[in-house]
Formats: sequence, C-alpha cells, structure tokens
Amino acid sequence: MSNVVLVTGGTGLVGKAIKHIVDTEPEGSRFGKRDGETWIFASSSEADLRDPAQTRQLYEKYKPTHVIHLAALVGGLFKNMKYKLTFLRDNILINDNVLHAAYEHKTTKVISCLSTCVFPDKVQYPLDETKIHSGPPHESNFGYAHAKRMVDVQNHAYKEEFGCNFTSAIPTNVFGPHDNFDLEDSHVIPGLIHKCYLAKKNDTPFVVAGTGKPLRQFIFSHDLAKLFIWMLREYDDVEPVILSVGEDEEVSIKAVADAIVNAVGFEGEYTFDTTRADGQFRKPASNKKLLTLMGGFEFTPFDKALDITVKWFLENYHNARIGSLANRS
Ligand code: NAP
Ligand code: GDP
Repeated sequence: MSNVVLVTGGTGLVGKAIKHIVDTEPEGSRFGKRDGETWIFASSSEADLRDPAQTRQLYEKYKPTHVIHLAALVGGLFKNMKYKLTFLRDNILINDNVLHAAYEHKTTKVISCLSTCVFPDKVQYPLDETKIHSGPPHESNFGYAHAKRMVDVQNHAYKEEFGCNFTSAIPTNVFGPHDNFDLEDSHVIPGLIHKCYLAKKNDTPFVVAGTGKPLRQFIFSHDLAKLFIWMLREYDDVEPVILSVGEDEEVSIKAVADAIVNAVGFEGEYTFDTTRADGQFRKPASNKKLLTLMGGFEFTPFDKALDITVKWFLENYHNARIGSLANRS
C-alpha cells in the first residue's frame, strides 16, 4: 500500500533532520524510507497553517495518510517570555487546523510534537507521560505550554468521539544542523554557538545569559528524527511518549557554554549576565517508556553532536537562520 507522510514544519530544525534520516538511512534500516512511501516536507510559505483554508488545501493537495506535525511558533526562553499571547494563539490555531483537517481527510495517523516545557513547574521529578496536566507550567512559557498541552486533550477527544489515531511526542531541548541561530530568539545551544562564533571572530565578549546553573536535557535532532520515525511505524496509542536522553543526562548551562567554547575554539574568557532570566531551573524527563517500547536506542554523545552542529553552522553561516540582529559579513 502506498503511504504519503506529510511533515508539517518540514523546513525547520526537526523537519530537516527527519528528511536527512529518510534520505540517508540504508535500505532495511528500522528508520529508513520504505517502498511505496512518499515524504512531503511542507513549509509555511506553502501553507500558513494558522489559516483553516490553507490547511485544508495542503491536505487536499497531498492527501496524506500519515502526518508528523512539527509546525509551530518556536523559540527559546527569551522569545517565549516576550510573546506569550502570540505563542498561545498561533500554536492553538495551527494545531486545531492540522488535527481537524486530518480528521476530515480520514488521515490514518497523526503524531504531533509537544515539548517538555508543557509539564508543570512544581511536580515530582522525573517528569513522565502521566504528569502533563498535574499543575500549571512555568510562567516563562505558559502561552506555548498551554497551546501544546491542549494537543494532548484534542488527541483524546478525537479518539473518544471519532476513533482517530492521533498521538503526541514530547522531546526535550533539541539542537542540530538547520537550527535557528538567531542571537536573541533562539534556544540556548544555537544562540550561544552564534554568540561564541562572533566573540571569536570580532574579539568581543562572549556573554552567557543567566547564572549558568539551570539544567537541561538535550537531544540531537538526528536522534530525534529516528525516534519520530519509530513512532510512526511502531507506536499506536493516544498517550504521548517522551523522546529524550536519560534523566541522568542533565547538563548545566555553564557546561553547555564550556562545550561550545571548546567546539568553536574560542580562547577568551566568558561571563554570565545574571540580570537575565534563568527560566525553569530544571525539568528532567524520564525516557523509560520510550526505551521499554523500543527495546533500546543508541543516542549520539553530546560532544559529538555539538561538534557536528558547530561544523554545520560554520560551513553554512551564509545561508543559516541567523536572525536580523546579526550581520553576515
Ligand atoms: P523551527 O526550526 O523553528 O521550525 C518551525 C517549522 O514550523 C518551520 O518549518 C516553519 O516553517 C513551520 N511553521 C511555523 N509557523 C508556521 C505556520 N504558521 N504555518 C506553517 N508552518 C509554520 O522549529 P523546530 O525546532 O524544528 O520545532 C519543531 C517542533 O519541535 C515544534 O513543534 C516545536 O514546538 C518542537 N520542539 C522543539 C524544541 C527545540 O528545542 N527546538 C524542543 C521541544 C519541542 P517555515 O520555516 O517555512 O516558516
Ligand atoms: P528552555 O529550555 O525552554 O528554557 O529554553 P532555552 O533553550 O532558551 O534555554 C534557556 C536556558 O539557557 C536559561 O537558563 C537561559 O538563561 C540560558 N541561556 C544562556 N544563554 C542563552 C542564550 O543565548 N539564549 C537562550 N535562549 N538561553 C540562554
């Protein structure tokens, strides 16, 4: 049978990583492209998914049997703090349109992407799939978090009322080639890679926001891509799955900055701007459900993945997403 897999947000960090894996995995691999399968990687210029008519047209054009729904307004801590209503509205609109069009077009399966930001701020650690709705999210990203949490509610409602096979994946902080390297509106790894690169190039200070003490779990985008493909093939339940390295693999922001200094080859000192926000102190998530279901997975070591990302950034500076604050010259 021929399947059409539509990846919304197919031009972003995670979408490009899924494309890379689909294009490069050897025949017979658990994560490779299968015979008769067509993959579509959609951008916002092809359809603005905040708009129901454009969303419907995208489904009419490709008639997807499967959807990996990544499209979202995405940003790191500082962008989330600035645009709470926009994060809430845009993501609610996108998610509602994508899920309802999938229902109308009788799409066999949809996997939507959430984030560990959706979890409650005050909760017993480690986070696991049962705790999404057990308290308010951290105030720094409540717009994004509430919009994303609602996808889990929608998935259950679509299943109960119409029997739809809609589910969700919950990744931790993602990084890799094709990330958004904006100086201000990005996540910590791409933001700091760009800042460190400029500090080295221009002999200017490298300043890390906050105290450096918060802890995060990071997943390399190519690993995450494989996990999405595993879910597409082998997971058929409405309950979400956390896609993460182990809960014992938290890294401090200072350790991230040190690793970036090393990977970029920056030889100066760097400082912390403690007037800037730290955000949530930690949000360790358990990958027990994932590993039990998959029977194991080999994650790329953090330093290796960081080297690949920095190399990609240096080789692609002229085409990378570096934001409006940076000057490419
Ligand atoms: P990204 O690099 O910023 O890419 C976002 C993608 O969404 C792009 O393809 C973009 O299309 C598309 N998009 C944005 N607004 C859209 C709209 N109105 N209509 C249609 N498409 C739209 O983000 P990412 O990091 O790959 O994130 C992918 C998913 O992972 C998101 O659901 C995000 O919430 C989730 N996630 C990300 C992280 C992380 O650390 N990055 C962590 C946890 C979860 P164009 O580029 O064509 O505009
Ligand atoms: P979060 O996991 O959603 O909070 O997302 P981020 O990827 O934005 O990580 C935020 C953490 O990194 C906070 O503790 C910030 O203070 C710290 N941080 C340090 N420098 C930067 C930076 O340049 N950009 C971002 N986004 N965060 C930074």
